[in-house]
Amino acid sequence: MYVVATPLGNMRDLSARARDTLAAVDVIAAEDTRHSQRLLDAFGIAARMMAVHRHNEQEAAGRIIDWLAAGRRVALITDAGTPAISDPGARLVARVRGAGYAVTPIPGACAAAAALSVAGIAEGGFRFVGFLPAKAAARRGALMKLAGERDALVFYEAPHRVRACVADMAEIFGSEREILVARELTKLHEEIAAMPLAAAGAWFAADANRGRGEFVLVVHGAAPAGELDAEAVRVLDLLLAELPLKAAARLAAEITGAPRNALYAHTLARRR
Ligand code: SAM
Repeated sequence: MYVVATPLGNMRDLSARARDTLAAVDVIAAEDTRHSQRLLDAFGIAARMMAVHRHNEQEAAGRIIDWLAAGRRVALITDAGTPAISDPGARLVARVRGAGYAVTPIPGACAAAAALSVAGIAEGGFRFVGFLPAKAAARRGALMKLAGERDALVFYEAPHRVRACVADMAEIFGSEREILVARELTKLHEEIAAMPLAAAGAWFAADANRGRGEFVLVVHGAAPAGELDAEAVRVLDLLLAELPLKAAARLAAEITGAPRNALYAHTLARRR
């Protein structure tokens, strides 16, 4: 089975190898067959298709294994980008390999990789988070858990949530942390902007179109707690004289723009 990356928007990003593979296989398993038909039509590929989405992945795996057993070749594609990355495919891949068949990647476009490649993260690694929970309270909880992460964080986000999500990031990660907003990658209205989280709200507000389309957000990792500036530590100490740690860290973060988690970690380290 071949796991084939397809374009994010610009059709010319379908690799020659991907095209050859899609033209050669007996069956193409696609997340949305109607959507993928347009891609196949654009390249003059006539292929038998079947739907594989998150609701039928296990059942589809059984059928695909039967085809492979009969000597057929199968390709898996999703609506855009690389299958199994915030997309269906991982369970199918595991089942097919578990049944003893080779699973071969045909690499190509991936929204996360495209955004990272222009994020300028020179040091450290990155952590792919993908989609955050849809509900605000759960999203904020997830961001709190990520606040101390030293590696860069890569998120996918839906257009109707992106502004609220970035506002939460500014509050929880600290307004000085850098974010790269990668919007509509490879498409006509592609826009890539890097800024401190403090400026992200104004960036979205400056143009209503900036709230539309598809987004990858790359947020730089947390600064080591030791790198807090003297003013942030002074404000934190004043607040700690009157308040419990959680409230003091929250207020100090709001007043100074320092990351809440770094203030928290700084106090805990000192107490230890
Ligand atoms: N598997 C795909 C990949 O890794 O490229 C991603 C599939 S996921 C269901 C769709 C999300 O990927 C979108 O909501 C958006 O966050 C991101 N994405 C896909 N295409 C994009 C594009 N052209 N520009 C920016 N983000 C994109």
